[in-house]
Amino acid sequence: MTSIDWAKVRSDFPILAQQVNGRPLLYLDNAASSQKPRAVIDALVKYYEHDNANVHRGLHELSSRATDAFEGARTKVARYLGAESAEEIIFTRGTTEGINLVANTWGVANVKAGDVILLTEMEHHSNLVPWQLLAEKVGARLRFIPVADDGSLALDRLGELLTPEVKLFAFVQVSNSLGTINPAAELCRAARAVGAVTLVDGAQSAGHMPVNVRELGCDFYAFSGHKICAPTGIGALWGRRELLEKMPPWHGGGEMIVSVTYERATYKQPPHKFEAGTPNIAGAVGLGAAIDYLEAIGRQNIFDHGAELTERAVKHLGEIPGIRVLGPMHRGALAAFHAEWAHPHDLTTFANEHGLALRGGHHCTQPLMRKLKLPGTTRASFYFYNTADEVDRMAAILRDARKFFDR
Ligand code: PLP
Repeated sequence: MTSIDWAKVRSDFPILAQQVNGRPLLYLDNAASSQKPRAVIDALVKYYEHDNANVHRGLHELSSRATDAFEGARTKVARYLGAESAEEIIFTRGTTEGINLVANTWGVANVKAGDVILLTEMEHHSNLVPWQLLAEKVGARLRFIPVADDGSLALDRLGELLTPEVKLFAFVQVSNSLGTINPAAELCRAARAVGAVTLVDGAQSAGHMPVNVRELGCDFYAFSGHKICAPTGIGALWGRRELLEKMPPWHGGGEMIVSVTYERATYKQPPHKFEAGTPNIAGAVGLGAAIDYLEAIGRQNIFDHGAELTERAVKHLGEIPGIRVLGPMHRGALAAFHAEWAHPHDLTTFANEHGLALRGGHHCTQPLMRKLKLPGTTRASFYFYNTADEVDRMAAILRDARKFFDR
């Protein structure tokens, strides 16, 4: 039992108090994007009403306030991830940009023809396509750890696939399609034993469970702000300092240089070397506010609440004829399922008519859907402001859907 007043927490989210199609909004599309608490919205308003200016370059009051707020947010992200220092935190647009940054800097400098990039069969397109592009560019090979029948990784294949030819092992910590929680620390340890660098896709884990990159033992960790109560267009990449220092820059422009001639430039130290141009200052301020908010609730409390809701949802779904829930029992805060009586798009359209926001489709994991021989799935994904009553309401709507479609 936790001492959190979840009803009070929920009231921090103004968007949730509305009707959709004549019913109270039932927002269960949190794996796609989370809602924002008043504290984050207020931080954005305060920033724009009081402190807005460009960072790092100005010697005037507002510029120094904006710089303090921006760099203060970086320090919060570092603390949130257990990084050694704020210099290991690069602000990005989100997980996708963080992974592309690693592929285009560390990857281009270190992955050679014939090397292997190891991924898993459950990766989101954003942890697959950047590696396809890199492999094509340098002549490397992609290799995949299969997904077992229960939706977990086939770890019995790890020894045979994680060989010394593997230069990089990139994997998702919590699958957005199956909910699977991968044993990230164990995978990073195994990768280190063969000299491979690791990248963890933290899009579905950073806001849902305690994360400490030093305990995970990874080399890179990427996440998106918008999935953890922060605005869209901001995220962060953590990288191990020794690697960041040796990596070439990716984007060139202002802010990332020490000195420039017409012929060449010298670059700042990380993280600024990787942050060309005016950054998303307000986004970073919002991310800092979101982190303060989540830390006040506690990520273990958030995980436990999500686990309770998900367990309840899986139980309900299992009782509806023709529904098969995907993924293992030990899972993140989502339940994706196949309903044999309705296409995911028809089902989510039906749900929307009842105020229920679900997501139907391939969830940016087309190869996985092909492997599972499914046209897509329907996914309910939870966050800490959802309630047990909402899970029950979702189940009632899906029971009605079955009556409607299965005639
Ligand atoms: N990885 C996973 C597991 C995701 O669920 C997502 C988004 O759904 C991403 C990466 C990409 O995140 P973004 O679109 O915020 O860059």
